[in-house]
Amino acid sequence: MLEIKNLHAKIADTDTEIIRGLNLTVKPGEIAAIMGPNGSGKSTLSYILSGREDYEVTEGDILYNGESILELDPAERASKGIFLAFQYPVEIPGVATMQFLKVAMNEQRKARGEEELKTPDFMRLVKEASAKLQINPDMLKRPLNVGFSGGEKKRAEILQMALLEPKLCILDETDSGLDIDALKIVADGVNALKSPDRAVVVITHYQRLLDYIVPDTVHVLYKGQIIRSGDKSLALELEANGYADIIGEAA
Ligand code: ADP
Ligand code: MG
Ligand code: MG
Repeated sequence: MLEIKNLHAKIADTDTEIIRGLNLTVKPGEIAAIMGPNGSGKSTLSYILSGREDYEVTEGDILYNGESILELDPAERASKGIFLAFQYPVEIPGVATMQFLKVAMNEQRKARGEEELKTPDFMRLVKEASAKLQINPDMLKRPLNVGFSGGEKKRAEILQMALLEPKLCILDETDSGLDIDALKIVADGVNALKSPDRAVVVITHYQRLLDYIVPDTVHVLYKGQIIRSGDKSLALELEANGYADIIGEAA
């Protein structure tokens, strides 16, 4: 589903290369975890996957279902079913979360050439998804992310993900301030989305999240390259021994 081949990328308009020959394959149905020390390029990788213009791919390719997505803008990538969990991290004052979700769903439908959702259908979908994720409907009347707690932001994010039904979900859990409740919300959301035709890439600095999401594969990112891949036991090894051994072996 996702094939990253010898990817090299730098910060646009500079010579600073952050991703330095990265290879990664993620199959449908797979939950892949990308771990790595701070500053290894995890967030940069997720920004590049989302299509942000601040980064320039200088070599290699990113294939999604066999086709290169490098020339697609973020909206085109989203309409093909690629979802970045930090896609809408911003506070949107004056727009109720509910309204925001409706616009997001309809934009996606429009990009796919589908009809707009009728309000009763939208309401039904939101109700079902919120109930599944144990989201209090009152939260959806508030403006998106404005004054939301960490846990509420995560709930809103997972709700967007559930409603947009992406095929490839990429979650960059940059927020080291996530408390255990927020981690569980993310984990429950990801576990609920697991299906044979969907892949999830969870990017995390912390092994802790992987106590709740059981990854099929674990990849260690260091200095812009995947230096080690394995199954979930690799995450446990990292928890026990830290990154130093693996980095030493790779060097
Ligand atoms: P991680 O998410 O693994 O902690 P990042 O992708 O945030 O790592 O950063 C990787 C490296 O690239 C860091 O050294 C960071 O300082 C640098 N970097 C990323 N984006 C920029 C940018 N826009 N300008 C300058 N340096 C950047
Ligand atoms: Mg960081
Ligand atoms: Mg990061």
